Amino acid sequence: MKIIVTGGAGFIGSAVIRHLIQHSDWQVINVDKLTYAGNLDSLSEVSANPRYTFEQVDICDAVEIKRVFREHRPHAMMHLAAESHVDRSIDGPGEFIQTNVLGTYTLLQAALAYWQSLPANEAGKKAQPNKDGFRFHHVSTDEVYGDLGASGFFTEESPYDPSSPYSASKASSDHLVRSWHRTFGLPTVITNCSNNYGPYQFPEKLIPLMILNALEGLALPVYGNGSQVRDWLYVDDHAQALIKVLIEGAIGQTYNIGGHNEKTNIDVVRTICDILNGKIERKPNGIKDFKELITYVDDRPGHDVRYAIDASKIKQSLNWEPQESFDSGILKTIDWYLSHSEWCQRVQDGSYQRERLGQGSCD
Ligand code: NAD
Repeated sequence: MKIIVTGGAGFIGSAVIRHLIQHSDWQVINVDKLTYAGNLDSLSEVSANPRYTFEQVDICDAVEIKRVFREHRPHAMMHLAAESHVDRSIDGPGEFIQTNVLGTYTLLQAALAYWQSLPANEAGKKAQPNKDGFRFHHVSTDEVYGDLGASGFFTEESPYDPSSPYSASKASSDHLVRSWHRTFGLPTVITNCSNNYGPYQFPEKLIPLMILNALEGLALPVYGNGSQVRDWLYVDDHAQALIKVLIEGAIGQTYNIGGHNEKTNIDVVRTICDILNGKIERKPNGIKDFKELITYVDDRPGHDVRYAIDASKIKQSLNWEPQESFDSGILKTIDWYLSHSEWCQRVQDGSYQRERLGQGSCD
């Protein structure tokens, strides 16, 4: 089996690639432009493996994407490359439209031409991610469903109602993928997942930002009153769900993935502070409790109040359930950041980017 993973140098993509290299015999081609969010350090455990190949390619570059399909002839594509940070989408939506909408369109066109060029097989075989076929797996977010309000859960039938330029661009990409299946027959699956956390997450996102700011004695900025609810999923649980859907999911279907871990943002921040209080004896800047660093800031415009996923379809049809509780996952995550100071340092001082820019090569 040969799979192209787009965005494999990012947080979730790198977890998928580490999992595939360490727990399968698949060949993995990582297609990543290496934006600020792409970090090849996150793949250092697996990058020397001969089954791993890196292609530094922008998914909006149709010529290069066609070449990648031609040269690697994959059995599947898992598409994670995206601009993924809501705050950045408010400051500059253009990149989000470019990568998330046009980039997905570019991949779909190339995937369709490639799929149509495969030799005809007995019915259905061409839609299997096996040696005879090809499958396109689009990875998306629960944010496409918008604001949930105080009760209820998002199901696969929930209407799309995105609030931010990020979620609107992801919603657009979901619609494109669905239409390439309905109109052209491209074998696709879509997954919509809740908030991920875990090792190797870029420290602009809530959990790593709070951990690293706390360790430096910096303010812990919490939007509004911190009452926004998110449903947290440990990244390795997401990676395993993605691989399961890729292999076993029904073509044309959407699967919601969630952790059954609804938490308010302020609860998450307080939990991180409490765990760090127990682990760090000498606290920075003379503070006695990391919670002293919590600072409420103006709420994000258009901030959704609550997201929560009903993951019963993937549980019933594919027998997937998360393994990690939030209590154990957040401990593992904090321990990871404490024991990977070099990774954190290289992200914080920008050296992870400077070095690869100097490489000047895609290999
Ligand atoms: P990330 O920002 O950590 O990584 C994105 C990766 O995509 C980076 O390696 C980046 O270099 C690459 N990339 C960006 N633009 C590109 C382009 N034009 N061409 C090629 N590569 C490009 O994102 P993540 O958190 O790992 O999210 C991965 C996917 O999962 C995204 O599609 C996101 O919408 C979705 N998702 C994320 C979460 C979450 O909580 N992080 C939850 C649900 C769904």
